[in-house]
Amino acid sequence: MYQNDIISAIATAPGEGGIGIVRISGAGCAELAEAMFRAASGRKLKDYRSHQAVYGRVLDENDKVIDEAICLIMRAPHSYTCEDVIELQCHGGAMALREVLRRSYQLGARPAEPGEFTKRAFLNGRLDLSQAQAVMDVIKARTRDSLRVAAGHLNGDFSNRIQDMRHIILGMIAHLEASIDFPEDDIEDVAIEGARLSIEKLMQKIDKLLSSADTGRILREGLKTAIIGRPNAGKSSIMNMLLKEQRAIVTDIPGTTRDSIEEYANIGGIPLVLTDTAGIRETEDTVEKIGVDRARKCLESAALILAVLDGSRELSEDDKEVLNLLKDRKVIVLINKNDIGTVLTAEGIADELSGLGIDINIRDIISISAETGDGLELLESSIRDIVFAGNVRADEEVFVSNEGQVRLLGQSLEYLGNAMKSIDAGMSEDFIVIDLRSAWEALGRITGETVEEDIIDRIFSEFCIGK
Ligand code: GDP
Repeated sequence: MYQNDIISAIATAPGEGGIGIVRISGAGCAELAEAMFRAASGRKLKDYRSHQAVYGRVLDENDKVIDEAICLIMRAPHSYTCEDVIELQCHGGAMALREVLRRSYQLGARPAEPGEFTKRAFLNGRLDLSQAQAVMDVIKARTRDSLRVAAGHLNGDFSNRIQDMRHIILGMIAHLEASIDFPEDDIEDVAIEGARLSIEKLMQKIDKLLSSADTGRILREGLKTAIIGRPNAGKSSIMNMLLKEQRAIVTDIPGTTRDSIEEYANIGGIPLVLTDTAGIRETEDTVEKIGVDRARKCLESAALILAVLDGSRELSEDDKEVLNLLKDRKVIVLINKNDIGTVLTAEGIADELSGLGIDINIRDIISISAETGDGLELLESSIRDIVFAGNVRADEEVFVSNEGQVRLLGQSLEYLGNAMKSIDAGMSEDFIVIDLRSAWEALGRITGETVEEDIIDRIFSEFCIGK
């Protein structure tokens, strides 16, 4: 599985930047760098200690200067990949970086696959699988809370919990197996009673982790939020307020927001994936019709709906149609335009919804102004309450945030449940041990100890190149 060749990639984001980095990893990469880098000091790279920064020039095959650079030498095992790593920090222009990269290929490096540096860190034991996956979550985090969860995974908080559980299961297996080997002792009853207690505790722990999954997933992937309302209610203005920038086009001609737009907004630490949809309205206009259909579709996939009403007017038939779409959905109603006087009240809307068979917490009906920003804090705290439902807190909990991890935790819970059933049914230790072993393996797939190679490949293929 382990590949020993030298890989090379541009590690910084594409585009122009102050600096750009070409990262090279693998045994022998220092010699490779020696052939394309000339230190200003006139000394050889091999004469420098690990983790020293060497100023000089990157040269092409004709000894022509490609760019000025700092060469950073990190010798194995004290590097990101645990291998010899060279970072050439050049000017951050696409051409310079591409030329430096090309030169490294010419000297024997091969293009790194997506995530290959991190994959090597995993294969060399510097990170376990859940930590390696967290690297991408750290890179992609859009709010401070998202980052905190990802960083908790990266520094091993989550892995440690999984390791502890595996350790306990292994202990149980050893006990039970010992009692199989020495059936004459009363070690048997003790082992089984001990296992029962431990399994109960483990199942509670896993349950608790799983109960964090919804929040974890939202912090990692964002909360899919649809903004709906009749034309001119102020959907685009609300969206702009949330994005704090002018993206959607605001107009006063009803029905001009024809397309849905998707944007990320950071609302009180929660990453929202916002979709502003065309006004819900029966229409004959075909272009707009597509928009309305899209609005309904977007409603289907949204986890939260922000229903916008123009608070300066009485409810229209269009508004009522919007309210009618809210049954059995997580919804916050925004009574907008409170800067020009409101005729709608939260109580009135709650009554209206109740008449449609929809229950809503009165705190989730918020008087707001997209114009002045009034009510934004109330909206933020309402959204936080929804996301942190129950008592999970971003700063003290370990969250599960990853679909695969949730599935594996669910599986191990099931195996532990089966082991419990075997105990209750008075089955022999062998049966209990089989289920315990399955639970132990399922947990091991989370940290990567019992994971198959193709799964590892799939996980790392979702990384970006250079990471
Ligand atoms: P949409 O069709 O629902 O997307 O509505 P828009 O966001 O395009 O807004 C329709 C009109 O209402 C525009 O003229 C906005 O300037 C105006 N508007 C939106 N929100 C407010 C608000 O909070 N206060 C006031 N006074 N006008 C608003």
